[in-house]
Amino acid sequence: MEKYIENLVSQLTLEEKIRMIHGATLFRTGAVERLDIPELSMSDGPMGVRAEFVDNEWRLVGNPDDYVSYLPCNSAVASTWSRELAGSAGSTLGEEARGRGKDVILAPGINIKRNPLCGRNFEYMSEDPYLVSELVVPMVQGIQSHDVAACVKHFAANSQETERLWVDTVVDERTLQEIYFPGFKAAVEKGGIFSLMGAYNLLNGEHCCTSKSLLGKVLRDQWKFDGMIVSDWGGVHDTDLAVNSPLDIEMDVRYDFENHYMAQPLLKKIENGEVSEELVDAKVRNILRLMLRLKMIGPAKNDRKAGCYNTKAHQSAALDVARESLILLKNEENTLPFAAKNVKKVAVIGANAVTMHSFGGGSAEIKALYEVTPLMGIKMHLGGNAGVSYVPGYPVPKPGARPEISWQATSTDSEEERDVSLDGEKVRGVKAPEPVATEETIREAVELAKQSDAVIFVGGLNHDYDVEGLDRGNMTLPYGQDALIEALLEARPDTVIVMYAGSPVAMPWAEKAKTILWSYYAGMEGGTALAEVLFGAVNPSGKLAETLIRDLEQCPARQGVNFALKDKVVYDDGVMVGYRHYNTVNADVLFPFGHGISYTNYEYSGLTVEGDVVSLTVANVGNVTGKETVQMYIAPMEQGSIVRPAHQLRGFEKIELAPGEKKTVRFVLSEMDFAVYDVEKGTFCQIPGEYEVQIGASSRDIRLKAVVKR
Ligand code: BGC
Repeated sequence: MEKYIENLVSQLTLEEKIRMIHGATLFRTGAVERLDIPELSMSDGPMGVRAEFVDNEWRLVGNPDDYVSYLPCNSAVASTWSRELAGSAGSTLGEEARGRGKDVILAPGINIKRNPLCGRNFEYMSEDPYLVSELVVPMVQGIQSHDVAACVKHFAANSQETERLWVDTVVDERTLQEIYFPGFKAAVEKGGIFSLMGAYNLLNGEHCCTSKSLLGKVLRDQWKFDGMIVSDWGGVHDTDLAVNSPLDIEMDVRYDFENHYMAQPLLKKIENGEVSEELVDAKVRNILRLMLRLKMIGPAKNDRKAGCYNTKAHQSAALDVARESLILLKNEENTLPFAAKNVKKVAVIGANAVTMHSFGGGSAEIKALYEVTPLMGIKMHLGGNAGVSYVPGYPVPKPGARPEISWQATSTDSEEERDVSLDGEKVRGVKAPEPVATEETIREAVELAKQSDAVIFVGGLNHDYDVEGLDRGNMTLPYGQDALIEALLEARPDTVIVMYAGSPVAMPWAEKAKTILWSYYAGMEGGTALAEVLFGAVNPSGKLAETLIRDLEQCPARQGVNFALKDKVVYDDGVMVGYRHYNTVNADVLFPFGHGISYTNYEYSGLTVEGDVVSLTVANVGNVTGKETVQMYIAPMEQGSIVRPAHQLRGFEKIELAPGEKKTVRFVLSEMDFAVYDVEKGTFCQIPGEYEVQIGASSRDIRLKAVVKR
């Protein structure tokens, strides 16, 4: 491979090399036809392959053939706690990307969810780096099994949208190694990922996309990454920094492609002798290596897979993920599942029952072939013998004032430029006053609820809130939903509350509600899966991959998101992110990390630890088949001199059990399970002492414990 690459590099002229290392259109680099080197075609994004854009304008071409399968978002994938489903989501995405003729799919996004308000939380998996690492590997391998490169993003510590281009994220070394790096490291070392995207933000004073320490010392030297590094679109700000850094390709949201920092300005510097051409050769080598791996060039060129999109198999993969992603948070008096036979009149209330979410969220937007909404799913499931009535209950928000203007065109402008843009009109950063539920809409909903056998409220957020480029202002549900929910629970205490959202929301009525079901944006078959769970055709098995807190006051990471110090955010919460903090201080959270219940019950017994092998038995003691995710946490018995979380997830296994069935679950302990990153030694070191091995159904529902000494 390397010989082949050297041979090509030696034949390329400087101009040709420059063409390969920057955007020639919004999503493609330049080709070198003379040597049969094609352009590299990239596409967003995490939930499906984005529709085609005009080459030099943020305008959709409007093709009739770029509808695609819409997959559940990464938060949903993570809620399945299934390596297998993460793999099949990846494989579906990769096959569709190849089917659409793409080389690099700009996914998965795996930044750590540090704060509930981050606008892109829905694109990310979890607050826990171990869970992210375990799921990203099969996802990457799934994508790449179709001769398409996965592109893990955004490296690193890009956990807020506020001031995303200019914020200097200050994070100490141990925290980076224990919290913000592991997912990326796993994607590189275990997943064998072919490409990676730098983040917009600065990390400890250096812009991530051109950072020598992050991309050089960590990624290239320590993790031995020899794949392609692409900038986030507009994440490069200087020619010298870019060419001297390990970055390979500069992409931008701007259209003046020849003025990109690694285009003409770089060419001139090399011609003037200010910059060595060898720096460019190194980048071209990485790009050619990627092309060889993808069989875009080289001896295996004729064997490249063709991919396909919109297949029945992809739709059913989307459904499988959606089914296992739904999280039953609460189900007092077994309100769910509804017995379809006894339900003649169903009230479906809430605008999210009819909202299609696919074409929103920012770069993750999808032109879905179809999207089954919750209302559609329920009607399709029940058929004609039940009457299903819908009222919105709260006002359905209208799309923005200028939906034809892509937010991405102005996404790297300063706030001032962005607000007044194009023809001088305010197009961004201005939101119409939020419409809210009124006495009348609430009365209408309550009346309907009172006359029905089953009442289902479907509310939550939408992509006006879960959106790239903006963080939410607070955790309160928009559109006055709280008042509506309170009124519904007053009239019908058995109202089933479905929260359809991409990130945590405050649920002040949670104690009153008997049943709460959580769904992230669940893809094209989300409504189908929801109906199956509501009516018992599917037993819910999702578990929270993040903590649902009561209010923002509980979150230790408030600096930055919503509390922007314009230019700097210090991650002073350190390693105490998510449940690492909440469970250490025993915070009274709403629903803990790892939580999610089922229509059956599981009994845990017989924990033994022999050497490094932990084993236990789980039995299904209920009446229906179900899937349980058994979680293993490791807890230091004494704190010692190093600050450590009360416990950390170090293993999980999802198993299926028929009624009465028992299975043995095994985990193998490793040094890493007891290790802390030692900054002085520059490596992870096991801390000797006594530890508790905790086996649980959630991080707060520990069923079995054993003490081990290391
Ligand atoms: C986003 C990336 C995305 C890129 C291309 C940027 O604004 O941060 O995640 O892949 O645009 O659309």
